[in-house]
Amino acid sequence: MLEKLWILSKDGRVFYTKSCPLSETNENLIGGFLGAIHMFIQETISSEIKSINMTNKKLSFQVDEDIIVVLQTDYLDNTILITKLLKTITFQFKSMFQEILKKKVVKVSQFNKFDTYFSNFTFPIELSLSCASCNDLIIFDFTTKEHNGEKFHFCCESCKKLYLPLDLNENQNLINLTN
Ligand SMILES: [Zn+2]
Repeated sequence: MLEKLWILSKDGRVFYTKSCPLSETNENLIGGFLGAIHMFIQETISSEIKSINMTNKKLSFQVDEDIIVVLQTDYLDNTILITKLLKTITFQFKSMFQEILKKKVVKVSQFNKFDTYFSNFTFPIELSLSCASCNDLIIFDFTTKEHNGEKFHFCCESCKKLYLPLDLNENQNLINLTN
């Protein structure tokens, strides 16, 4: 689940934050983390996504040429889904504030308008994924299969092969047989 989001300037000013109503945040932990990000920035030339695990949380961030976007999620949340969300948020924020970000002096309150982007989402934003076959949580790569227009996710190819979705009639037969 997306617990908290920060959008920062490259020199560490907080442009925008958003918290999921259900989440709890250890502000001390985050303070230290945001400080540490600056060390990363010095070493980061690409806009590659990085993440850090802290107790039961995962902080994932993308350093862009103008902004840094940080997501706090559960440490078992799926990396691919987090990456997608991180890229989408970075792209949306940059297209919405393109002109403002070019200016030398930036009034932070202008970025509150980014709330309108989140009106498209239903909270909490779920980022955990479990295998339709073995039910294990999938943290990294997954494969998918479509059945009756519904998409199923699997942790590996053998789970995908093993999975035989029962349709309603088969299901009822099964219940009748076991009664
Ligand atoms: Zn599986």
